Amino acid sequence: MTLDEFLASTETFSNAALPALTGAMSLEELEAARIAFLGDRSGQLKEIQQQLREISAADKPSAGKRFNEIKARLTAGHDARRAALATLVDSGPALDLTLPAREQWRGGKHPVTTVIDEIVGIFRELGFTVALGPESESEWYNFGALNFPADHPAMDLHDTFYLGEGALLRTHTSPVQVRTLQRHAPPIRILAPGTVFRRDPFDSSHAPAFAQLEGLAVDEGISFVDLKATLTLFARRFFGRGTRTRFRPSFFPFTEPSAEMDVECQLCGGRGCSACKGTGWMEIMGSGMVHPAVLESAGIDSERYTGWAFGMGPGRIAMQRYKLPDIRLLYDSDVRFLSQVAE
Ligand SMILES: [Zn+2]
Repeated sequence: MTLDEFLASTETFSNAALPALTGAMSLEELEAARIAFLGDRSGQLKEIQQQLREISAADKPSAGKRFNEIKARLTAGHDARRAALATLVDSGPALDLTLPAREQWRGGKHPVTTVIDEIVGIFRELGFTVALGPESESEWYNFGALNFPADHPAMDLHDTFYLGEGALLRTHTSPVQVRTLQRHAPPIRILAPGTVFRRDPFDSSHAPAFAQLEGLAVDEGISFVDLKATLTLFARRFFGRGTRTRFRPSFFPFTEPSAEMDVECQLCGGRGCSACKGTGWMEIMGSGMVHPAVLESAGIDSERYTGWAFGMGPGRIAMQRYKLPDIRLLYDSDVRFLSQVAE
C-alpha cells in the first residue's frame, strides 16, 4: 500500500466515523458507533492500524502521524458527545414554555351512578342498607332458589351467558337477596345494586350488561300495604312530591302477588305523549310479595315471616330523567355526552 492510498483510506474512514460519533442522539447509539469504529476487537480503526504494516519504512513516520491524529480526533469527539448526552439525561425532559397549558377538567359521576346513589339515599332513610354479591353465580342462586321452574324461558341457552360447570353471569341481582336471607335472620331491609347480564341485542333500548337495583324487606307482619306505601313514598321523593303512581297485576316466579309499578310520565305530566305511547304512564319497576318458596329455600320460616321485593333498572330511569333517546349513550363513554349530564 502506498502512502497516498493509506491517506485516502484514513480520510474515508474519518468522514464516516466522525459524524456518527459526534451526532449520536442517545448513549446507546453512541456506544454502537464506538464499537463499530473504535472497538478494540473489530472496529474499523483496527483495520486502518493493520494497513500501517504495509507502508514502506520511508513513509511510515508520515502514515503513523496521520493515524495518530485521526485516532485522537475521533476519541475526543466520542468523549465530548458522551459527556453531552449524559448531561441531557440528568436534566430530565425538556421544558417547553411555549406549549399551551393542559386543559383542566374534573371527573363526574356517570348518570347511572347518580341515579343509584339517589335511590340508595332515599331508602337508607327508611332503614335499608346496601348488599352486594358476585356477578358470576351458580344456577341454583340465579334460578333454583328463586322458584324458577326448570323449563322457564329465562334459563334458555339463548337468554343467559353460561360459564360452564353450573356457573353463569347473573341475569338479575336477586341472588343477592337469597344470599342475604341465608346469612341474616329477619328483620331484613336491603338494597342490592349491581351489574347483570343477558343475551339481549345491543340496540337503542337494550344492552347485554346493565345496572339493576333490587330491594328486599322481610319481617313479621309485612303486607302489600307496606310495599305500596314504601314504593309510593320513594316515587314521590325521587320524581317529585305530587307524582302519581299506579300498580298493575303482573307475574314473576319469585313473588306472589306481583305488580308492575308505573309513575306518571315525566315528560307530559300524564297527558300522553310519544315517550309514554300516549298512556301518560311510565313503567319503572316490578315488585311483589316474596314467594313463600323463596323464603323456605333460604331457610326462613314462611309461616312466621313475610316480605316484599322490587327490582328496577337505573339505566332506564336515567334515560327518562335525562330524556335520552338511546340507551347506548350510557355505555359509549363519550365524554362530550357525559359532561352534559354528569353531576
Ligand atoms: Zn308522556
